[in-house]
Amino acid sequence: MSDISGEERLYIDGELRPAKSGAVFETLNPATEEVLGVAADGGAEDMDEAIAAARRAFDETTWSTDVEVRVRGLRQLHEAFLRHSDEIRSMTVAEVGSPVSMTTHAQLDSPVAGIAWVADLAERYEWEQDLGVAEPLGIASHRWIRKEAGGVVGAISPWNVPHQINLAKVGPALAAGATVVLKPAPDTPWCASILGRLVAEETDIPAGVFNVVTSSDHRLGAMLSKDPRVDQISFTGSTSTGRKVMGDSAATLKKVFLELGGKSAFVILDDADMAAATAMAAFTICTHAGQGCAITTRLVVPRARFDEAVDGAAAVMSMLPAADPTDPGTICGPLISAVQRDRVESYLALAEAEGGRFVLGGGRPKDLERGFFIEPTLIVGLDNSSRVAQEEIFGPVLVVIPHDGDDDAVRIANDSTFGLSGSVYSGDRDRAVAVANRIRTGTIGVNGGLWFSPDVPFGGYKQSGIGREMGVAGFEEYLETKSIAESA
Ligand code: NAD
Repeated sequence: MSDISGEERLYIDGELRPAKSGAVFETLNPATEEVLGVAADGGAEDMDEAIAAARRAFDETTWSTDVEVRVRGLRQLHEAFLRHSDEIRSMTVAEVGSPVSMTTHAQLDSPVAGIAWVADLAERYEWEQDLGVAEPLGIASHRWIRKEAGGVVGAISPWNVPHQINLAKVGPALAAGATVVLKPAPDTPWCASILGRLVAEETDIPAGVFNVVTSSDHRLGAMLSKDPRVDQISFTGSTSTGRKVMGDSAATLKKVFLELGGKSAFVILDDADMAAATAMAAFTICTHAGQGCAITTRLVVPRARFDEAVDGAAAVMSMLPAADPTDPGTICGPLISAVQRDRVESYLALAEAEGGRFVLGGGRPKDLERGFFIEPTLIVGLDNSSRVAQEEIFGPVLVVIPHDGDDDAVRIANDSTFGLSGSVYSGDRDRAVAVANRIRTGTIGVNGGLWFSPDVPFGGYKQSGIGREMGVAGFEEYLETKSIAESA
């Protein structure tokens, strides 16, 4: 048994408690396949209570109108995370299989900093805006706009960067005055239940305002989408589940906020520093074994420099093998589960069936007997219409595709149902920015620039999602706009 421990209880209406049924489910370490421990297996009754509590806290308390209490509660939560950061870091590496190196940014420290950022934003936010006097129909009227919380939010999250996704929903929603029921992925319950414990034990956030229901049952997420007491769904996950969430939310016309899949292009133009560009592309695909929705998975390179690009990417990827995530030097850890590894392996088989060739990788690493690892894999010989170049694989798998100039590179980058992220490299900054502007995607890096930060909005075009997370835009997703006029 591991010496890592996690919070086993649900957090509902101010109380840390087991599931009504008493059921639990196991959470695993994907690097060792060992059982870390258990989490409460919440059922329909628990979810019903959590929704009722969130509804009550929104309708019957001053939470939604008292900014000061909210800012204080969020700052307390931020401090609580910092106080426990060592144990949360170890737990996260164990439960998510995230390389420990990643916990100093997207896997932990950056989302925690995001709580403080959004508390500051709520404190300085212009909640009312005066529009002055006008005379519609000859009636002199003084008008103003008031920003109000949208209500009860059902937050549904995946497993790949759980703190980032949980906190980028919960922080802004609470700061806006909403109340929240969080339903995390079954693979990473502890990364959510810790949030319940910190809110319960180390903040003044009132009972019912925030609730966490861990469960092995995906249907609990659908309960949130369907329940008329929930005003808004904030969902991150696959595009196929996002479609179901939107469909289920339609009956009650909920506002839906969707962060979905991606198949982002890393475009290298013919005048780029090839060594620098391919090193970045290689590093990106290996990070957390490619389990990031915004990771660039198609390397689009000038046809005349194709071999140079492949050699450059292969050289760096071979230096970043799949390895123990607790080692500070590791970039590529395990996949989250056997199911996910099966899925990635099915795409590797498909790549060969479609006529692709592995320059590097293509299977499980020979030196690791346990854990759900896949070797960093570089594929050539496929064009952009292949399924491997079109569908999200969510593993350390990079496909190299040739282009015939800037217009062709833009065409290939945009030839995707997704539009989440991307990258462009050129020796000419203006040329790179011009290409970046033509790619239909929610975020894009130019010559190695990184957009990921609490103040930068993140989200997708096309089937990568609806709405934005983080930044002022991410906070305003949880607000309604009320226009008021009094006779002047
Ligand atoms: P998933 O869609 O299988 O599950 C996501 C969450 O939805 C889980 O909590 C799950 O229990 C819940 N769920 C499942 N069925 C549901 C239903 N019918 N109604 C409501 N909730 C339901 O995704 P996953 O496998 O956990 O995560 C990987 C996917 O997430 C990838 O496609 C990845 O691109 C995407 N992702 C997107 C972003 C982004 O911000 N765009 C970030 C991270 C991950």
